[in-house]
Amino acid sequence: MSDLLLATTNPGKQRELARLLGGFPGRLLLPQALGLHDEVPEPHHTYAENATAKAVAFCRAGGLPALADDSGLEVAALGWGPGVRTGRFGGHVEDPVALLLERLNGVVERRARMVCCLALAVPQPDGEPHVELFDGVMEGSVATEKRGTGGFGYDPVFLLPTGRTTAELPEREKDRVSHRGRAVAAAVPRIRELLASGP
Ligand code: IMP
Repeated sequence: MSDLLLATTNPGKQRELARLLGGFPGRLLLPQALGLHDEVPEPHHTYAENATAKAVAFCRAGGLPALADDSGLEVAALGWGPGVRTGRFGGHVEDPVALLLERLNGVVERRARMVCCLALAVPQPDGEPHVELFDGVMEGSVATEKRGTGGFGYDPVFLLPTGRTTAELPEREKDRVSHRGRAVAAAVPRIRELLASGP
């Protein structure tokens, strides 16, 4: 089984992907272990294009299969934004989660979802890496205040229908229902197939 490079420098995503791929038979490598620190630009309009760009860049740089994650928060009252631009929401504000709560202050319609697109890029002997995409969605709403200390990013304000935020869930429970958990579950059989013949 070939090794797999987790093509992200986001510590929250690294933690979750490593956990979700816990049963993976090959080695899971992080960019920093290979001296790869490059931030790949995300100029595209879709999660799929950004995830593909990241996976291909790390696959080429590391010379091995790479799995990238592009994800975002979609909020009904913000026209289902910030979406693919979630990582840049509010520009360089210190606390984008607080900014989101401020924007939704007094707003009754609080439906939201988190979306994850994974791109797996596998080196080919000649030419471009082979790329496959996998998606996952988690439906919920935006809470009116932060709650919980788990997870990362918008987890303290992402409210599930059960009444708990994803930052209040034990890790395994978030993995079971999360956008990333669902995308990884969809990807695992193909990752195993595509990497089975590797070194
Ligand atoms: P990107 O995929 O690097 O463009 O950025 C994803 C954005 O969505 C970041 O602002 C993350 O904090 C946020 N995000 C992605 N996944 C999660 C999650 O599981 N919980 C909370 N926030 C997330």
